[in-house]
Amino acid sequence: MMEYRRLGGTELKISVLGFGASPLGDVFRKTEPAERNAAVHFAVDQGINFFDVSPYYGLTLAEARLGEALEGRREKVVLATKCGRYGGSEFDFSAKTITAGLEESLKRLRTDYVDLLQAHDVEFGHVQQVVEETLPAMRRLQEQGKARYIGITGYSLKNLMEIASKVKVDSILSYCRYNLLITDMDRSLAPFAKKHGIGVGGIGLINASPLHMGIITERGAPEWHPAPQAVRDAGQKIVALCKARGVDAAEVALRFCLDYAGAASTLVGLSSRGHVERNLKALEMKVEPELLREIAEVVAPVKDVTWASGLEENYG
Ligand code: NAD
Repeated sequence: MMEYRRLGGTELKISVLGFGASPLGDVFRKTEPAERNAAVHFAVDQGINFFDVSPYYGLTLAEARLGEALEGRREKVVLATKCGRYGGSEFDFSAKTITAGLEESLKRLRTDYVDLLQAHDVEFGHVQQVVEETLPAMRRLQEQGKARYIGITGYSLKNLMEIASKVKVDSILSYCRYNLLITDMDRSLAPFAKKHGIGVGGIGLINASPLHMGIITERGAPEWHPAPQAVRDAGQKIVALCKARGVDAAEVALRFCLDYAGAASTLVGLSSRGHVERNLKALEMKVEPELLREIAEVVAPVKDVTWASGLEENYG
């Protein structure tokens, strides 16, 4: 049932539904070991092979917990982690920290290599450093066999494109840029990737946060969410509308992203078997065009609203 797409020009074939592991670090709510492990094991059994984590999520907790849950299953998955972001406002894109940081990540993940190493939230760094120091250091780690491929992640599409136009990357991950509330990734990042050959042979883009980091769920946005109130309200209107039509808003939101051919995988945050099950259902469901029209109407006043992230010079 699971579909796999080749990630850009790499040899990685990743599931269209990816396991976002930030919730394993308790960034949305407190989780229990048994439910976390059950979520990971069930996901692997069901063919979800793409796992994305970072030392930042739960300040190393998510990596350590994912490493524990993947014990004995490492070779079944495509494992992506990140470097450069180590706290809410703790960034260090220096070669020294990137190199030492990966060693720590590998220990926590209980492996001696990752499939994809990504510079995390690059809009918080200076373009020159990311281009001239961070990414070359990551390429050296690739040459040493510690990372099979390298990529960048972030919120500012302008910044991601500026970096990727200056130095070759194997993948680009953007978040909260393609879902029911926003689709600007398709207007700028997708044509850019095509033009610059990111993804020749496959699809070089990864789409994260199909639920707009929890906004399109019954629980709603976590306290730290940066979106303006009007966007949060629109998320709750989508939830109410879907409920009234007898469907689950998270499933609808995920299906919308799975239908997007411009991304190799959609990463949804997971920490419970129940959510894995429900999200797998999205692979099979169809959303009525009428419901999508109604959602578009509700969203229209805040469609494509973004927020500032990172250094001012990198906004966009
Ligand atoms: P998301 O939009 O996937 O929302 C996650 C929240 O939705 C969690 O609270 C989760 O428990 C809940 N959820 C998941 N499935 C649900 C369902 N069926 N019903 C109800 N609630 C459900 O946001 P996210 O977790 O921030 O993004 C997904 C992943 O993408 C992250 O875990 C991370 O791996 C990656 N990501 C990367 C970056 C970056 O690199 N800068 C940024 C954001 C996300």
